[in-house]
Amino acid sequence: MTKKRISWVIPIYNEETNIPALYDEITKLRKEVEQNYLCEFVFVNDGSKDNSQKLLEELFATDKDVRVLSFSRNFGHQMAITAGLDHATGDAIIFIDADLQDPPSVCLELIKEWEKGNDVVYAKRRTRKDSFMKKFTAYWFYRILRKFADIKIPEDTGDFRLISRQVADVLRQFPERHRFIRGLVSYVGFTQTAVLFDREERKSGKSGYSIKKMLKLAEDAFTGFSLAPIMLIGTSGTLLAFAGMIGVIIGLITSTTLVTALSYATILTGVLLVSLATVGQYIGRTYQQVQGRPLYIVKKLLTHST
Ligand code: UDP
Ligand code: MG
Repeated sequence: MTKKRISWVIPIYNEETNIPALYDEITKLRKEVEQNYLCEFVFVNDGSKDNSQKLLEELFATDKDVRVLSFSRNFGHQMAITAGLDHATGDAIIFIDADLQDPPSVCLELIKEWEKGNDVVYAKRRTRKDSFMKKFTAYWFYRILRKFADIKIPEDTGDFRLISRQVADVLRQFPERHRFIRGLVSYVGFTQTAVLFDREERKSGKSGYSIKKMLKLAEDAFTGFSLAPIMLIGTSGTLLAFAGMIGVIIGLITSTTLVTALSYATILTGVLLVSLATVGQYIGRTYQQVQGRPLYIVKKLLTHST
């Protein structure tokens, strides 16, 4: 009987200092996994500006289970995972970060839970070693999103997870360009379960997730899975109208009409602009989706098989 294959999808953005240590860890893990499965490692170089490509090509030259996919520029973590998914051939696919924040040893548990019949096994952070700001923003992001999203997206869970071939094939049919993959995986359903783990510190180098990229991910999550921001505009409009009426009455009674009117006009303008921007987020995303550009562009693909 042929063995089942496990694919690892590993996004790489300026990880030259982590690739050797990561490969060491993978080699350890592989010794155990290969007793029962075939292995495949799909590295997606997301437009790194350092020596990552060279290191990946060296791995490719000596390891027949390595595939390397290089983007023409930086398209972002979510696109790197998307491309990995498109090129992975395994019966199960594991998304894992390259900086060893997601300990490779946890993969054994993910595989075990998959073999029990789960289609999605996500790794949920029991603890995490990150900066105060990262912990604080992530904590509230997941909780607010959970409150407003149309589907339940598990808290404290990144993209570190295993998905079955069936789920992978379903995910590949999603054409949206503003992708929050964690949300999409929740959306597809099937049997899902969690494995708890302690998230390590970044082994070396610095995070490729700038504040701008984090904000974009948060916006993609909210606009992709909730219309709550637009509902909020309706609610704040109603509240403001009420406040306006009260203000006018107070102004009339105390004869400070001009000051009151000006203050309300200022508040109103602010609220209107925020409302416009919020609606604009949805419209802009619709426009970009309609443009229908490819999600990512591959410059070079290294593979030992077709
Ligand atoms: N990454 C990527 N493209 C980017 C930013 C990050 O492919 O634009 C990769 C990165 O190399 C790592 C994973 O995505 O393997 C998670 O990124 P990072 O560790 O920088 O994020 P953090 O853990 O700080 O949220
Ligand atoms: Mg990291």
